[in-house]
Amino acid sequence: MYKNKQSKTIPCSFFNCIEKNFDKAARFIPIEKGLLEQIKACNSVYRMHFPVKIGKEIKVIEAYRVQHSHHKLPCKGGIRYSIKVNQDEIMTLAALMTYKCAIVDVPFGGAKGGIKIDPQTISKDNIEKITRRYTSELIRKNFIGPGIDVPAPDYGTGEREMSWIFDTFSSICPGDVNALACVTGKPISQGGVRGRKEATGLGVFYGIRELCRMKEDMLSVGLDVGLVGKKIIIQGLGNVGYHAATFFHEAGAIIVALAEREGAIYNKNGLDVSQVIFHLKNTRSILNFPGAKNIDNTEKALELECDILIPAALENVIHKNNVNQIKAKIIGEAANGPITPEADEILEKKGVIIIPDIYLNAGGVTVSYFEWLKNLSHVRYGRIEKRFSENMNAELLQVIENTCRKKISIEEKKIILKGAREIDLVRSGLEDTMISGFHKIRDLKKSSKIKNMRTAAFVLAINKIIESYEKSGIFP
Ligand code: GLU
Repeated sequence: MYKNKQSKTIPCSFFNCIEKNFDKAARFIPIEKGLLEQIKACNSVYRMHFPVKIGKEIKVIEAYRVQHSHHKLPCKGGIRYSIKVNQDEIMTLAALMTYKCAIVDVPFGGAKGGIKIDPQTISKDNIEKITRRYTSELIRKNFIGPGIDVPAPDYGTGEREMSWIFDTFSSICPGDVNALACVTGKPISQGGVRGRKEATGLGVFYGIRELCRMKEDMLSVGLDVGLVGKKIIIQGLGNVGYHAATFFHEAGAIIVALAEREGAIYNKNGLDVSQVIFHLKNTRSILNFPGAKNIDNTEKALELECDILIPAALENVIHKNNVNQIKAKIIGEAANGPITPEADEILEKKGVIIIPDIYLNAGGVTVSYFEWLKNLSHVRYGRIEKRFSENMNAELLQVIENTCRKKISIEEKKIILKGAREIDLVRSGLEDTMISGFHKIRDLKKSSKIKNMRTAAFVLAINKIIESYEKSGIFP
């Protein structure tokens, strides 16, 4: 909340909320105020309106692309299609991208785009028309390009939209040998990288798993070490929530509730995620899943008994009106900005561990970075070294077998000899990024006596950005 000129208290905008988090962190950084102001500010906001003929009518479409920071280029961030899109939201999400990229050491400035449409109510052909027109508007204003600004999927968009963006870009800018790198999250057949689709959900899994490995942290919330048997609630079964749920289920955690727009389902003994998805595809709803209890008011699912709560849908879902009912001991922010600053303070006082969005959902952009590098290098990961490592492994194994006078089984051989494929390399790069990011934040929190992971993550991000400003010599 903040006071306006008439001194009335009005709710703070999403951008102000992030500024508050930034300001809390800035107290730990002894640097000139002007530089902090520059880091916080949104550099470029492009708001556009364009006409698209839908049926017999001409519709005016409102859309945005915001570049929050140019301290590293290109700018990077998804494009969302939602009727709720507005300038404040896109500016905030662009800012979060800047901090996210800095934390996981991905050399991009932050950006975000949005088109104010409800894709559920628009035909595929018309979504294509809108996407292509939006892309040509971006090209016209120099807001897209492999070294300028590289969009990706976000809420309401996916591989399909990314391939239209690439196709429009390459037809308007022919001859650009790096054109594939103008957008990430593309289908594999069009220059995408294996492992991008599940990357954000898998990153969420790696981040929470790492916290659960820390004895001291688990003790502080009265939980045992490890994921096995942990009770988890996930809000949102989109690309992020669905993949995260699958990875937790496979690792032996118990998914006690899943929440979607139409309602939530609960089973204290656990839900089989793949069965729920099967049910969702068949009935177009998660409700009435065999053996589970329906919860009609989907928000109530957040308040159920659990160890870990993972909001993986939209912003501001945990606020001052429901925060006191939240029972989770750990909250993993898979969505961007799911907790309001007021709720955040209350949860901190209660000792809840919050793994912040600017770290936890960075898996998507991390693998986007791998895709961008693949597109610029024009070679698939593993192509050069896979066969070589397999031959080396075979030779090594032969020596070991001869020395030990023992042969191993064909199955064991297959595992040992296998050279790394693209998916193996992408996943190992993602795992390493998430684990090292977690420890950088945790170590900083401890060494600087910072109270929570969010502030520590912001401090880490701001320090990184300052470092690159210093290196660039812009502020001698
Ligand atoms: N939309 C995703 C995010 O918010 C991915 C961004 C990207 O890959 O550039 O992190």
